[in-house]
Amino acid sequence: MIKIGFEQIHPIPVLPADIVVANLKGLSWSSGVNAVTAFKDTLKPMLRKVQKGRCSLCRRFLYDDYATHLEHFIEKGIHRDFTYEVTNLSLSCGTCNIKKNGYNRTLNSLIKKRARRKGQKASKYCPVLAVKISANAPMPVSSASYRWIHPYFDRYSDNIQIEKGWIFTGKSRKGQRTIRSVKLNALAQIERRALAERLEARPGRLSKLLGATAELDKYRAGHLFKLVTKQLWKRREASDV
Ligand SMILES: [Zn+2]
Repeated sequence: MIKIGFEQIHPIPVLPADIVVANLKGLSWSSGVNAVTAFKDTLKPMLRKVQKGRCSLCRRFLYDDYATHLEHFIEKGIHRDFTYEVTNLSLSCGTCNIKKNGYNRTLNSLIKKRARRKGQKASKYCPVLAVKISANAPMPVSSASYRWIHPYFDRYSDNIQIEKGWIFTGKSRKGQRTIRSVKLNALAQIERRALAERLEARPGRLSKLLGATAELDKYRAGHLFKLVTKQLWKRREASDV
């Protein structure tokens, strides 16, 4: 199994007194207004710390700030009121955030098309929610209110197990839904390619073996052995030519 780093975001980050969430209500997330930028810049490092530097969805390590997204669990386009709700925000890798947004978009466009065919008006659907939220109601704070694993209210390992090689297995309906919707099992191929590139960049046999050893917590020994052997053979063939 691969270590997940953190179970859930706990403790909930407490913003300093000069960041007043109530004052941000109505401001657009991408407005570039100073108060919004200060909110994001303050929250990001706090989340990085409590998330142990990992993505809230796939638990891979986050890279630099550009590749790291401040992710709204309940879409801000669906429930604007929760845009600056700390417990609706976590850090995710760009891949997971883009996949999650893509899933939401595809689903809502299908709902819209179906409603149009019936001559009805579609209301936006938020797939992570298990409950309907009426206007001005507070954000739900119980695990049961969510259909996907919530970064604050659910324990990751109760719902998902990550096997070596980045294979995600659902241990609950929530876990299965999250894996399927964010396409977490597509990460195995991305990670395998990155691993091959990392090892390829190592010059000698010993260096490659050391590199492979360092990956034993994430990959099966058999896979690493095969990969190193393949790369060494390729190099030998190339030098024979
Ligand atoms: Zn991720």
